[in-house]
Amino acid sequence: MSVEHAQVQRADFDQVMVPNYAPAAFIPVRGAGSRVWDQAGRELVDFSGGIAVNVLGHAHPALVAALTEQANKVWHVSNVFTNEPALRLAHKLVDATFADRVFFCNSGAEANEAAFKLARRVAHDNFGPEKYEIIAATNSFHGRTLFTVSVGGQPKYSDGFGPKITGITHVPYNDLAALKAAISDKTCAVVLEPVQGEGGVLPADLAYLQGARELCDQHNALLVFDEVQSGMGRSGELFAYMHYGVTPDILSSAKSLGGGFPIGAMLTTTELAKHFAVGVHGTTYGGNPLACAVGEAVMDVINTPEVLAGVKAKHERFKARLQQIGEQYGVFSEIRGLGLLIGCALSDAWKGKAKDFFNAAEQHDLMILQAGPDVVRFAPSLVIEDADIDEGLDRFERAVKQLTQA
Ligand SMILES: *Cc1c(COP(=O)(O)O)cnc(C)c1O
Repeated sequence: MSVEHAQVQRADFDQVMVPNYAPAAFIPVRGAGSRVWDQAGRELVDFSGGIAVNVLGHAHPALVAALTEQANKVWHVSNVFTNEPALRLAHKLVDATFADRVFFCNSGAEANEAAFKLARRVAHDNFGPEKYEIIAATNSFHGRTLFTVSVGGQPKYSDGFGPKITGITHVPYNDLAALKAAISDKTCAVVLEPVQGEGGVLPADLAYLQGARELCDQHNALLVFDEVQSGMGRSGELFAYMHYGVTPDILSSAKSLGGGFPIGAMLTTTELAKHFAVGVHGTTYGGNPLACAVGEAVMDVINTPEVLAGVKAKHERFKARLQQIGEQYGVFSEIRGLGLLIGCALSDAWKGKAKDFFNAAEQHDLMILQAGPDVVRFAPSLVIEDADIDEGLDRFERAVKQLTQA
């Protein structure tokens, strides 16, 4: 290990970083598949997947090859010029989805920012300045820019920054009557996560999404699906909208799209895309060749029947064991989610204590996630080996046992 690496420790975080995060006590330095090693050489099993990002685990050979090959060609040209990886990735996304057009950016928040701006622009162009309202769900999460926290239904993220973006209404998730009561001809878009991720790993009811689609059509509003977390194979289909059979007008993707390399994308139809004419929206790095080369490799690997079927099989493997652990120790009220986005809702006795599960898992060499204070979340690699699932769940059970016997 080089001196430079040995010199920084977790304590440095509190000296030199803006204190908006509270990272774990160890620092990961290397990963391979679903295993991660820290500075001390400790090996951990990774069920967190970098928050539903490391879709093929760590250091997947196809992604390393794509990145290094592109690194030797061209890194960045800006959108004054186009580039081959961006065009190829766009073709792959268009071929695989409802969409005809792709806008690339660098994160989930930016993909949503583009989606919301497009929805407003379309309404403005087609119906005039009065049609700008957006309806979103309580407890939803769409990113951390001012527009996206305003649309996201969590005041803890949107309060305290002065005036918010106006014209946004929040309605309870999975409550079609509430959506029906809120929507009007002033609504330009209804924004939903097909599976609420940060909000607690809560899948939509089919009738809810179908009803939302109908209401949008009746009111000339666009249906926007935020698939930043639920997309790119995580649900067991390429996108969760395919699982439901309900097609949005605009879809945002990020997280798993780059497998760990920052990228975001907004997908839409030709008809809507034309409202983003030259100069209307943009970003310097959008469609960056390195990011798009990696995204292409991600698409090639995950959008196959084998990998997608594997996600469904691995879901069952997780669920069966988590149900057993939940029953044996009385910690869970429900195991939910789609594919490899799994939430364990804590039982009344353990409500509010998801962080304790996170800490206990870490002590047993396992990386997991929370989704709020009441839900333990797993978002591992989609190609995690069954042996790693079993080993990780053994560790998880030991952590739960220790927690419940303390
Ligand atoms: C993570 C997430 C975002 C924000 O993505 P960033 O890349 O952090 O900006 C938006 N929507 C959903 C559903 C997410 O899970």
